[in-house]
Amino acid sequence: MKDIRDRTVVIDKARVWHPYTEMSRYRAEVEPLVVVRAEGSRLFDADGQRYLDGNASWWTSTLGHNHPRLVEALTSQAQRVCHTALAGIAHPGASELAEKICSVAPPGLEHVFYSDNGSTAVEVGMKLALQYWAQNGQPDRCAFIALEEAFHGETLGVTALGGVEVFRQPFSRVLLECQRIPSPAGSGGTTASLTRLREILATDASRIAALVVEPMVQGAAGMQIYEADFLAGARSLCDEFDVFLICDEVFTGYGRTGPMWACEHANAAPDIVCTAKGFSGGMLPMAATLTTDRIFEGFLGEPSRAFYYGHTFCGNPLGAAVALEVLQVFEDEDIIGAAKEKAVRISRAFEEMASWQGVSRTRSLGMVGACDLEGDSGYLADAGWRVFEEARRRGAYLRPLGNVVYVTPSLNIPDADLGELLEILMESVSKILGDH
Ligand code: PMP
Repeated sequence: MKDIRDRTVVIDKARVWHPYTEMSRYRAEVEPLVVVRAEGSRLFDADGQRYLDGNASWWTSTLGHNHPRLVEALTSQAQRVCHTALAGIAHPGASELAEKICSVAPPGLEHVFYSDNGSTAVEVGMKLALQYWAQNGQPDRCAFIALEEAFHGETLGVTALGGVEVFRQPFSRVLLECQRIPSPAGSGGTTASLTRLREILATDASRIAALVVEPMVQGAAGMQIYEADFLAGARSLCDEFDVFLICDEVFTGYGRTGPMWACEHANAAPDIVCTAKGFSGGMLPMAATLTTDRIFEGFLGEPSRAFYYGHTFCGNPLGAAVALEVLQVFEDEDIIGAAKEKAVRISRAFEEMASWQGVSRTRSLGMVGACDLEGDSGYLADAGWRVFEEARRRGAYLRPLGNVVYVTPSLNIPDADLGELLEILMESVSKILGDH
């Protein structure tokens, strides 16, 4: 397969513009993994090398790669209907999936709007909030509140919510208004965040459409984990000032932090929930935005009150068939229950590194474990990339976030693979720190 690898890389470097990548350095220095097959928690490259997938392919293949039941759901659906528009057409996959996801959703979420990915799921949430207020007597509610270091995706709408400067800064002159509160994962904790939230709402609630948060863990900010009492406090402030609470569960949903939804840590039922990664099972782009009766009903009546929004592939039958099977597998295989033991092992591994010189802020929640490496911080820091290289040599894929090294494996990673992944993680960190 050497030929395949070489040809792939030559064309890749000439033609493919990689995400989050400065391309001149990539072309000159990076030897990409050329992945030709994946199974369970493993990726295989063109040379037959195996890599444990430490981040479940961008946090999405929660059931591992190519789960046989998902592959079967996909192929059997492909023989019936691959695609149909959803406007004015119903199909069993979209209906059954909506019914099933509402049955496991936080209380009060009764309606499902489909789209393609995490960014669009949040974009839909923002537009629903804006249009709801515009046509229900409060058109001045056009601004949002989000956390410092927030990440909610890539469309221009959701970029306004983002607080990771390197992603936001190039577009900062053209974004919607977003007021920012300190992250509850920061030094001021819950109190600083809620104090600022109350201040903004007390003066400006009549201009605010929604508060948008990543519940419990700010993923792209470097796996910043915070206390559940922030969510409970945010829910009650949103109630007090009648502002929508949007929980972006794109990363945290589907058991990543322990329970099915991270907002369950605080029993805080949002007005809007956005889901994509776990929801899709890592098979096809697929997302959903769930909402309450109140919001749904705010769009009824005259044709002009409809939500004029829809992507070509929204509710796509292939994606819907897979997403439905994902929920069935979660139920049949008790994925969330079975992950508890695995989460303990992740937590122990990071605790063990807590005393190492050069490692700080070890943390974990559910199937997320992370630590910071000393040195420059932020997304552009490179200490994590040295760990990445070491791990790659040892057979694991551990893409970092700047100086943050983390694991977010599939929830059903076999115990032996998890053991090996954590061993490689620790050896690789240890190696770059020298003797600790
Ligand atoms: N929201 C959160 C919390 C995310 O972590 C991400 C992606 N990492 C997104 C939204 C965007 O999802 P997508 O990449 O599927 O557009």
